[in-house]
Amino acid sequence: MEKDQLAVKKKENSFGVADQWIRRSVERLRLSSVVYEHLNRPMRSVEISIPVKMDHGGVELFRGYRVQHNNVLGPFKGGIRFHPAVTAESVTALSQLMTLKCALIGVPFGGGKGGVVCDPHKLSLLEKERLSRGYIRSLGFLLGPDVDIPAPDLFTDAQVMAWMADEYGQLARQYTPGVLTGKPVEVGGSLGRREATSRGCFYVTRETAKLYNFPLEEARIVIQGCGNVGGQVARIFHKQGYRVTAICDISGGLYHPDGLDIPALLEHVRKTGLIEGFSGGEKISSEELLTLDCDILIPAALENQLTAANAAEIKARFVVEAANGPTTPRAEQILGERGAVLVPDILANSGGVLASYFEWVQNRQGYYWDLEQVNRRLEKMMVEAFHAVYQFGREKCGGDSIREAAYGFAVQRLAEAMRYRGWL
Ligand code: GLU
Repeated sequence: MEKDQLAVKKKENSFGVADQWIRRSVERLRLSSVVYEHLNRPMRSVEISIPVKMDHGGVELFRGYRVQHNNVLGPFKGGIRFHPAVTAESVTALSQLMTLKCALIGVPFGGGKGGVVCDPHKLSLLEKERLSRGYIRSLGFLLGPDVDIPAPDLFTDAQVMAWMADEYGQLARQYTPGVLTGKPVEVGGSLGRREATSRGCFYVTRETAKLYNFPLEEARIVIQGCGNVGGQVARIFHKQGYRVTAICDISGGLYHPDGLDIPALLEHVRKTGLIEGFSGGEKISSEELLTLDCDILIPAALENQLTAANAAEIKARFVVEAANGPTTPRAEQILGERGAVLVPDILANSGGVLASYFEWVQNRQGYYWDLEQVNRRLEKMMVEAFHAVYQFGREKCGGDSIREAAYGFAVQRLAEAMRYRGWL
């Protein structure tokens, strides 16, 4: 990337933009400005230092966060990420997205987010376990199945949730599965939770294509990211008979105009940890992947990937945000001017928290659903939410920005709850 492009990328940020969309919704829907005040900053924000005994015998301190953004709709809810780029600001912005996401998809949860500054790939399994347990020892008193319910996020998984739930159980002196979601099925997780974000993203993409009369069978689908979300999105599209023409991870990308052999590629990733070394297509860089000639682009990795530096080169007709905050406002504007349709994160990736809600319900009931039941309910609620948002946009937001419609829809719900609870 050119130096000046790098500078542009640095300055742009998709975080903090939610504030502007909330303000716009509040004004357009003529809501009280107190709604904006409630939503533009978190109710509680905690920063911790976690001492971890490392394998070499010494102790290292890790910085951690939990932001409880808003709980007007129910207990705070949102993932915990382990990533070197975690900051107080990014966790706060992500917690705000969770408040909106939960309101939009219709689960009785508020929004929260957590994070630890670390590179989990450089930690041994035992160090990761001690870090996960340390996080809960420090913050457990702020959590609870009716208070704040974490889940996996970037570089955390079901195993991390299992350690955390175990640690919480020791503090609470009873195993309490409903305090965390995204657990392994063996210790109270839900079938279908692991791939729920991706499955939800598939349903939303399918409904969008239908709405715009675009034949999905002809689509060339490009996916940025091959982790928990991106890899499963690829698997689901491939399984349904659609063509994934490119995918990438930190080791670079692969492209095949007739479609990649996704099951073989994912098997290779499972064994080696990376796409690198798989020979089923032409090697491309992650930057090239974003600007490939394609119909549907699904950013499923990090924030701030579609920026002013590359937006003019992006050719996709549909951009479906499986990641949180992958598009900067400037990029969104450029895409919009070209007529591209953008399906925003709070709608496109809400399948994850929706399935978390199913898990929490099952934990409370002590009665576990089969996979068919989980997937059926997921599809029904995702499809209904998609159309409700679209309809809301047509009636109340005039314009064709699905992001604006999604924010309006969520903010209206939050405002109604605030009014009933006497917060306004
Ligand atoms: N980390 C996921 C998200 O950003 C899931 C959160 C949850 O299930 O609580 O939506």
